[in-house]
Amino acid sequence: MQFIDTHSHLYLPEFDNDRDQVINRAIQQGVEKICLPNIDTRSVNPMLALVNKYPDFCFPMMGLHPSSVKKNYRDILKNVQEHLLRENFIAVGEIGIDLYWDNTYRKEQMKAFREQITLAIDNHLPVVIHIRESFDEVFQILDEFKPDYPKGIFHSFTGNLDQAHRAIAMGFKLGIGGIVTFKNAGLDKVVKDIDPKHIVLETDSPYLAPVPKRGKRNESSYLVYTARKIAELHNITIEKIADITTQNAMDLFKLNN
Ligand SMILES: [Zn+2]
Repeated sequence: MQFIDTHSHLYLPEFDNDRDQVINRAIQQGVEKICLPNIDTRSVNPMLALVNKYPDFCFPMMGLHPSSVKKNYRDILKNVQEHLLRENFIAVGEIGIDLYWDNTYRKEQMKAFREQITLAIDNHLPVVIHIRESFDEVFQILDEFKPDYPKGIFHSFTGNLDQAHRAIAMGFKLGIGGIVTFKNAGLDKVVKDIDPKHIVLETDSPYLAPVPKRGKRNESSYLVYTARKIAELHNITIEKIADITTQNAMDLFKLNN
């Protein structure tokens, strides 16, 4: 079985003491690649250092996270653009809109999202979209690009079935993580009705660890719990889920074996 963790912040300080062991445990569980979404200007160097150490295993994205969008977002986007010109990235991410923690910069978040979609299209890259309390805003901006939507992932998807179908109709994959294993989250009932050909697996490490590790620091080896849950929901083998979701991630990010 081979898995790809399409969303991990393995470069964060939470892993400073045991990052190599975390990677070894992931490899033992069949994780063959880890995709690293960027957050802001501070996370770029630790992220690229990790990629330098594990060049065939860790793959970086470049972008500005919506929760890090402030008044000065344009300067940071210039920096994002310069990185995209200089180095290789698999996606523009993570980008999007987060109105859960703070909606002070709602307008700036929407502008930064729009501009980063354009950057992705110009650079022929997919987008990895973070959505929190913001489905309407995200769909509104994506619709501006109709019919030339970017390719990409609705990361840590927690929407309803209508929102899932709408994203899929636009050509997006749904990033499914630990929340699908949470009792009462309701995501299991949505994922049950989504064909795995539209799904990629993710941890969002160090956050959102799946049951039975819920509440602990998340890591890529825990991807198997999420995969097993999705396999159960679809009444197919975990091997099949591994095959389909790995192929989806390879195609989207143009990763080679
Ligand atoms: Zn993330």
